[in-house]
Amino acid sequence: MSITPFWQNKNLDEMTKAEWESLCDGCGHCCLVKLQDEDTDKIYITNVACRLLDIETCTCQDYPNRTKLVSHCLVLAAGNIDSINYLPETCAYRRLAQGLELPQWHPLVMGNKDAVKNSGASICDYAISEEYIHPEQLQEHIINEVGD
Ligand code: SF4
Ligand code: SF4
Repeated sequence: MSITPFWQNKNLDEMTKAEWESLCDGCGHCCLVKLQDEDTDKIYITNVACRLLDIETCTCQDYPNRTKLVSHCLVLAAGNIDSINYLPETCAYRRLAQGLELPQWHPLVMGNKDAVKNSGASICDYAISEEYIHPEQLQEHIINEVGD
């Protein structure tokens, strides 16, 4: 008997909370600080991570209270994925919304949470915590432009 995994037989808006949360591979990309050009609205991604991100484990240090503590924390939902243009191509939410498969190294596919680090998709090899960066230095940390 073969059982189809939930992400292949449910739409994003049909998933339970636990299923939804398990889709996040913990790459940390959405926890990188972004800058927006006031004139062009263009978004730039820095290598500076939110102060609540534990860089070693690439996990939020207060996930239940994250939106109270960090006003710009992203809350993904089935209804807003299409409007967020800075999720990486590897992000499971983005991929499933586009009708694509999960990456081969995804923890749900591999059964191994460390797979994301080995895949190179994690930001934790290069990110610096916001705690150590003065806001005026953020521009020096731009590593990518959304849409590049
Ligand atoms: S980009 Fe996607 S997979 Fe990576 S941490 Fe954010 S929600 Fe999770
Ligand atoms: S509060 Fe937590 S989940 Fe939100 S951006 Fe910061 S580290 Fe990421």
